[in-house]
Amino acid sequence: MRHTLSQINTSLKVSQCEKGWRMYGENRELMTMTCAHCKKIVGMRVDPEDIERHAEGLFVQHAFVDREGTPYLTPAEREMWISGCCGECWDLLCPRDKLAYN
Ligand SMILES: [Zn+2]
Repeated sequence: MRHTLSQINTSLKVSQCEKGWRMYGENRELMTMTCAHCKKIVGMRVDPEDIERHAEGLFVQHAFVDREGTPYLTPAEREMWISGCCGECWDLLCPRDKLAYN
């Protein structure tokens, strides 16, 4: 049986409600992550339900958003979720200066 997109969206919303999810980063709690490279501990405030959405496959830039859909993590905080590197290590690994790649 084929489902239309609106049927799929409706069933997705129902399953999210059954899990008691609120939407859009409203319940941000302080958490820490350790940089995979320099082992520095980085603190950030995130909604645990956004972590769950990300763990279930939603991209970081779509999972950690506020009610308006605006991402609330800084680029450095997003990088911790994507590569496990803190902002300082990422700047060392991927310098903005194009001459650094020659
Ligand atoms: Zn680091």
